[in-house]
Amino acid sequence: MNHAGGARRIGILGGTFDPVHIGHLRGALEVAEMFGLDELRLIPNARPPHRDTPNCSAQDRLAMVRLAVQDLPPLCVDARELERERPSYTIDTLISLRAELGADDQLLLVVGWDAFCGLPTWHRWEELLDYSHILVLQRPDAGTEAPQALRDLLAARSVTDPQALCGGAGQIAFVWQTPLEVSATQIRQLLASGKSVRFLVPDAVLAYINAHGLYRASN
Ligand code: ATP
Repeated sequence: MNHAGGARRIGILGGTFDPVHIGHLRGALEVAEMFGLDELRLIPNARPPHRDTPNCSAQDRLAMVRLAVQDLPPLCVDARELERERPSYTIDTLISLRAELGADDQLLLVVGWDAFCGLPTWHRWEELLDYSHILVLQRPDAGTEAPQALRDLLAARSVTDPQALCGGAGQIAFVWQTPLEVSATQIRQLLASGKSVRFLVPDAVLAYINAHGLYRASN
């Protein structure tokens, strides 16, 4: 789908995807449909600066995300952060993506409300909006106020109608979403205790987990 002047609209969702699950996929699909995205790229993190070491190899995490989106356009996988030698800062990813896109193409960085509140701790966070819009997924039960450091930014850059995001980058929009109560942590715990994760991950991902013996207690 092309928007004004043939510009493309590309969303990106980063995560450890350890493993990818239906919460990620439903959320990504809903955002893609809501915004008529040409692509929604799931970008597995290599060594996330804010997280502990993931529980299975980058290669396995990538393989599972590939399996999860194989028949699910416009969802797709972007492996650039796993191909990089150093920690994957979001700013680096946005700069490299931007270099591949036209000036009018829209980039939408999708982040949850909690992640958004932590934005001031991100590397070169004040430059993120030079390269991308930010789409904040708000949960109905999130009652927190934005930290002081973000108030000025929100006053200057947020738009009330997310559909009205214009230009390639620079604005912040909020969308309300009821997330499915599933997390990768819960899935790892279930598997480690020998329980089923059927219907929490796509069948192809489950088959991969079983075939490679991932997340078992003995790992
Ligand atoms: P973990 O339990 O290991 O912390 P996670 O399930 O939260 O993992 P991540 O890989 O950290 O998964 O998530 C990547 C992105 O997906 C984040 O932006 C996160 O907010 C979002 N996300 C995670 N779980 C859900 C869910 N159930 N519904 C919607 N979005 C989700």
